[in-house]
Amino acid sequence: MTTRFDLIVLGAGPAGATAARVAARAGLRVALIDKAVFPRDKLCGGLITGRCLGHLTALGALPPPGLLTRQDRVTFFRNGAELGTVSGCPPVYLTTRHAFDHHLLTQARAAGAEDLTGTRVQEIGPAHVTLASGPRLGFSALIGADGVNSAVARQLFGAAFDPATIGFALETEAPPDPEATLRIDFGAARWGYGWRFPKPGSTTIGVGGLHARNPGMKAAMARYLAEIGAAPDLRIKGHFLPFGSFRAHPGRGAVLLTGDAAGLVDPITGEGIGHAVHSGRLAAESIVAALAAGVPDSALRRYRQALRPLHRDLRLARMLRPLLFSERLGPRMTRVLRGSESARMRYMALLAGETDYPEFLAHALRRLPARLLRA
Ligand SMILES: Cc1cc2nc3c(=O)[nH]c(=O)nc-3n(C[C@H](O)[C@H](O)[C@H](O)COP(=O)(O)OP(=O)(O)OC[C@H]3O[C@@H](n4cnc5c(N)ncnc54)[C@H](O)[C@@H]3O)c2cc1C
Repeated sequence: MTTRFDLIVLGAGPAGATAARVAARAGLRVALIDKAVFPRDKLCGGLITGRCLGHLTALGALPPPGLLTRQDRVTFFRNGAELGTVSGCPPVYLTTRHAFDHHLLTQARAAGAEDLTGTRVQEIGPAHVTLASGPRLGFSALIGADGVNSAVARQLFGAAFDPATIGFALETEAPPDPEATLRIDFGAARWGYGWRFPKPGSTTIGVGGLHARNPGMKAAMARYLAEIGAAPDLRIKGHFLPFGSFRAHPGRGAVLLTGDAAGLVDPITGEGIGHAVHSGRLAAESIVAALAAGVPDSALRRYRQALRPLHRDLRLARMLRPLLFSERLGPRMTRVLRGSESARMRYMALLAGETDYPEFLAHALRRLPARLLRA
């Protein structure tokens, strides 16, 4: 026997929980499946940008204040040398994914999505999924919100990501340190950076960058831990992140990919949570519209159109990335950051989501030395 749903969402992280909530609120019968039992951890810095909060506010899904710690003071480093601190900068917020994702899941449940977390999927068919426990669930539309190793993306395209362009990060949770400040370290990893995010219950420390450029990421993490005076024997975990390699065609027909499964991580800042929430919403809205029009297969066309501004931003970010990270230009950009508080402020405005890439590029064209831009 097959139980039918209008929409099945695979993965209950920020992308999936948001998609399920939006579709359920629009009246669809939704099943939200995740192999994990929530609350669960996800390897992540847990830095929430103003951009992400904007998306959550628009959905009426803001987390309760106790879940977020506000930070408006950041120190930048390059290869261990301090570049400068900015105080009173556009704020970012720190959280734990354990609590943050559980909050979003609770909201999806409250909207009426059927909660199938703690459930494994054995098979994904063209119009059904079979659970490992036996039942078969039919769908009119499917959203793959199952992260960077997406089974839905593998089913559609043969592989979840391109190993040549994927990012990789190592991270650990150190004891809380009331004296520690938020820091960002360029050069801690190649084509990436290091971070220390102080939170009430712990200090999240990590290094991440393009996987292909960092065969020695473990050694980079060890160097970084030593540099910031963290204990060397902390438990370190690794995870891929689609650092700028988004899918121009995120799905097929009525099967859509969202968040990491669609490659929606910023190739400079590494932000993915906000884009996961945003794309989850857009995917759900595209499916609601496609089903209402009686043309389920038009969902991808609608979704691609809705994603255009985000895709444009990520393309621009990829174009600008060598300015910060390439071996030739990175050191010059470092001098700009060291010499200019307003440049550091601009970077934070970008990270915090107060500036977008077109605005950032326009500013860079006006202010950066012509030689640097030509290079
Ligand atoms: C080390 C690291 C640090 C990061 N730091 C930040 C940061 O500070 N700020 C930020 O904005 N972004 C950060 N990111 C990126 C961010 O974590 C992701 O972009 C974000 O989690 C994407 O959300 P998602 O919902 O698409 O996927 P996920 O959060 O990965 O959720 C996917 C869900 O799918 C489930 N799943 C997977 N496969 C299956 C399956 N076969 N069946 C059922 N369920 C399945 C998983 O259990 C999981 O719950 C970081 C990434 C890494 C690796």
